[in-house]
Amino acid sequence: MSLFDWFANRRKSNSQVTEPQEREIADGLWTKCPSCGVLTYTKDLQSNQMVCLDCGHHLRIYADERVQQLIDPGSWLPLDENLAPTDPLGFRDRKAYHDRIRETQDKTGLIDAVQTGLGKLDGLPIGLGVMDFRFMGGSMGSVVGEKLTRMIERSTRERLPVVIVCASGGARMQEGMLSLMQMAKISAALERHRATHLLYMPVLTHPTTGGVTASFAMLGDVILAEPKATIGFAGRRVVEQTLREKLPDDFQTSEYLLNHGFVDAIVPRTQLKKTLAQLIRLHQPYAPTPLTTHAHGVYGGSTTSSVNGFTHVLEQTEHLPDGLPLRLSAEES
Ligand SMILES: [Zn+2]
Repeated sequence: MSLFDWFANRRKSNSQVTEPQEREIADGLWTKCPSCGVLTYTKDLQSNQMVCLDCGHHLRIYADERVQQLIDPGSWLPLDENLAPTDPLGFRDRKAYHDRIRETQDKTGLIDAVQTGLGKLDGLPIGLGVMDFRFMGGSMGSVVGEKLTRMIERSTRERLPVVIVCASGGARMQEGMLSLMQMAKISAALERHRATHLLYMPVLTHPTTGGVTASFAMLGDVILAEPKATIGFAGRRVVEQTLREKLPDDFQTSEYLLNHGFVDAIVPRTQLKKTLAQLIRLHQPYAPTPLTTHAHGVYGGSTTSSVNGFTHVLEQTEHLPDGLPLRLSAEES
């Protein structure tokens, strides 16, 4: 009897005992942590936002889960949902690019690697983009670039802060130059957003690399990262070969980048919504409504609609009660 037959017989004789357990695993009732190997009940893991309860490892999540975690229920307005990729170069590697797109779309149910929209984060209206690593490694092609640009431009018009959750292997090589151009296009849209004194915060998740790191991932006013995410431009091996030097073990991790000033804060996923809300509230211009002027003096909530309005707000900050942070003082110089 071969070893394979022996296992097959054994499985048959134990079928009544083992079957329910096997089905449970197959249905995804249990999830094994890729870092510590502990098996956790998936519902417990989900209620902890897919962060391992044992070791704190952040498991990969899909774009729609991220939207659910960040956006208040019922407030999500997706933008450009039907924008689909084309194959302008007729590109073929091992497989034709258009076949690859179709297969990935069938497998993931996504049209491309980013979801964009407007919604409320803890009651605060924002523009949000979330990249999905499942779709061809979150690579940035024309659709990713166009959707993010349109979302940023709409947010600029509606005077909303922008948050983009990054997860990407870089530019989509199957679209050649067209994918590289997206870096400039998104960066230009972000510059127009910045010029109107609006807040932009990228959230770097595992992994954020290549053209995404080289453009919008690093252009934030405040750059946040998830713990132990890989963040870099070129891969570790390429850098080592070029420098002919051994790199430190934690090279290209969130923690390394925080220590070297590239990232402003590492925020665990379970704290992300709260932290983003706090930062957006801090950045809101101090524009007291008659009701809040003397009562509390904290972030009246009404927004100004022009650059002049912003200057006007600066004057008002002088009347803040003692001890309140003068967040806007940097603009005075
Ligand atoms: Zn774990």
